[in-house]
Amino acid sequence: MESLWCEKSANSIVDQYVDLVGRDLALCLYMTRLVGCDRRLVLHGGGNSSVKAKAKDHLGNEQNIIYIKASGSDMATANPTDFSSLKLIELRQLRGARNLVENKLRGLHRSCLVDGTDKDPSIETLMHAFFPHKFVIHCHANAILSITNQIDASDRIASLFKDSLTLIPYVKPGLSLAELAITEFENNTNVKGLILSNHGLVCFSDSPKIAYENMINLVSLAETYVSTHRPRLREYNEKQKYPMVGTIAPVVRGAYRRAAIKYAKSVSQSSVPSHVVLSFRANSQILDYMDGSELQRYACQGVPTPDHAIFIKNKPIILTFAESIDKFSGSIDQLFCNYIRQYLSYVDRYADKNFNVDGIVDPLPRVALVPGIGLFGLGTSVQEADIVADIAEANVDIITGAEAVGQYCPLNESHIFDVEFWLLERQKFAPISRPLSGQVAVITGGAGTIGREIAITFAEAGATIAVLDIDREKAIQIASELSNRALGLLCDVTNDESVKRAFEKILEVFGGVDILISNAGAAWQGRIGEVSDSDLRKSFELNFFAHQRVAQNAVSIMLRQASGGCLLFNTSKQAINPGKDFGPYGLPKAATLFLVRQYALDYGHEGIRSNAVNADRIRSGLLTDEMIRERAAARNISTEDYISGNLLKVEITAQDVAKAFLDQALALKTTGDVRTVDGGNMAAILR
Ligand SMILES: [Zn+2]
Repeated sequence: MESLWCEKSANSIVDQYVDLVGRDLALCLYMTRLVGCDRRLVLHGGGNSSVKAKAKDHLGNEQNIIYIKASGSDMATANPTDFSSLKLIELRQLRGARNLVENKLRGLHRSCLVDGTDKDPSIETLMHAFFPHKFVIHCHANAILSITNQIDASDRIASLFKDSLTLIPYVKPGLSLAELAITEFENNTNVKGLILSNHGLVCFSDSPKIAYENMINLVSLAETYVSTHRPRLREYNEKQKYPMVGTIAPVVRGAYRRAAIKYAKSVSQSSVPSHVVLSFRANSQILDYMDGSELQRYACQGVPTPDHAIFIKNKPIILTFAESIDKFSGSIDQLFCNYIRQYLSYVDRYADKNFNVDGIVDPLPRVALVPGIGLFGLGTSVQEADIVADIAEANVDIITGAEAVGQYCPLNESHIFDVEFWLLERQKFAPISRPLSGQVAVITGGAGTIGREIAITFAEAGATIAVLDIDREKAIQIASELSNRALGLLCDVTNDESVKRAFEKILEVFGGVDILISNAGAAWQGRIGEVSDSDLRKSFELNFFAHQRVAQNAVSIMLRQASGGCLLFNTSKQAINPGKDFGPYGLPKAATLFLVRQYALDYGHEGIRSNAVNADRIRSGLLTDEMIRERAAARNISTEDYISGNLLKVEITAQDVAKAFLDQALALKTTGDVRTVDGGNMAAILR
């Protein structure tokens, strides 16, 4: 690990921010981003930094203050608004304070804010404040954690770092850690930093460059020490043939969902997400780690720091693949059941008797290890699943290092519980619950006017979206505009291979499919007695067979998940009420309407619902403004009268169609439904 400090870059950050926040905070920002951009040092809101400076309060009085990174803010992308300013003298007066209840820490920090609108400062604010140095920086470096998670950590640290570092035992962050840290520092003021057992490293100096470079040098020393010890953990079973991740992932998702439903039924109030998407990781280090014969011991002993438990819980679930996917599917529910039971008994062991698990405890796993295949992070969105997978990967690195150096020995689980259920810390990673959180929705024709609206509407409802379209660039563009991280894929719905490839990609990236909105279509016209056979067949290919093709692919995944699903089809008013010379379009749409009913009938007992939306006269690629003008002229009416030619005299928009699909996706007890979105048309009303 090398220092990335560059005077030119530091000066340019100072130039950029000096007028806004002053030189001190600008330099602190630079130092913070340098640490944040190295994933071996910190991940996702972990670590923090501070600088002491002078600033004017709201009365114009100059105060000694400390700028400290806000709790949960990311160091890599830190901006001035990610720092809170607090009155240093007031914080320092808390040294030695008795009876400071830890749950009051947040209020206490806030009462010292110079600007009451600042974000909550880091939980380690007092530790930063007590040190006399101008700059303080704190990280959770993997290599340091590999060495501190050992029974004989203190001997190893002493021989490796000599007098440059002091090791202090694990103490929960807050006032006690701050007091211990400053006392240890005062006992030996020559140190460059402190190692916080089972937690991380803190370095300090009056120069930001020295504080940062001391940290880099110390972590490098630890990395070299670990790497000189690092053997391979792997004892690979070459005989076992493993399936592809796309085969395993839906089985894991489905098992999660069944376990979540079962748990929710067993409590009066559940906070367990009902669906998750998966973030998959596999590299040689992860595979070696999972192939070790003592995987159960080192992977399930506990996480290297209590902070990690907030994101990935204290243990992963291990799902061993043996022999066949059927055998794997047959055993997985029991493994989830065991995990939940063990997690609830862990809560039972450490929670006081007034602790009601309902609505607070989420006993489902966040990380699944599948030896031979890889690890999955589970989350209610791709962003969340990625955070979980990143931290799980860091854990693999730390524990692999610890097993190389000696034997991994994490903190006692009571300390983990203490932090995992500490309200102040839980706020760092609280899954956001929306109606379709954790559900994967696939939209065909997703780059068209209606497809785009469906994508936006479902993403806002929390779904993870795959936008499929024959126009790859546009599909990617629309995916990039969505509120949730989404996938834009090329898909020709009339081509078997193309559809298969698109679904395989979705399985690799999200782990499954819950909702299909089969929306792609195009209109062919012609008098039915004269239309060419080729046109009619082309229309059937896109307006009927393509619906069947994507539905078949989606259903096969839903069956592997064995946890229900929802098929939604864009049929058309034409399916019920034919338009003159529109036979080539209406006939396959009528067949698709029956397809909807056939899926409802054949897969209802599997929990797979099948519904349709019959829309009419939507401005889109199928009904352009030019077509509207022509049709209005042919009828001798205005374009406004043509577009709102319905009982309610209103124009129907793509948003109206998207909303109808969303309503159907949320109507869990409705299948075989056909929703008309046409403003009222007697001839198109179903009877
Ligand atoms: Zn920390």
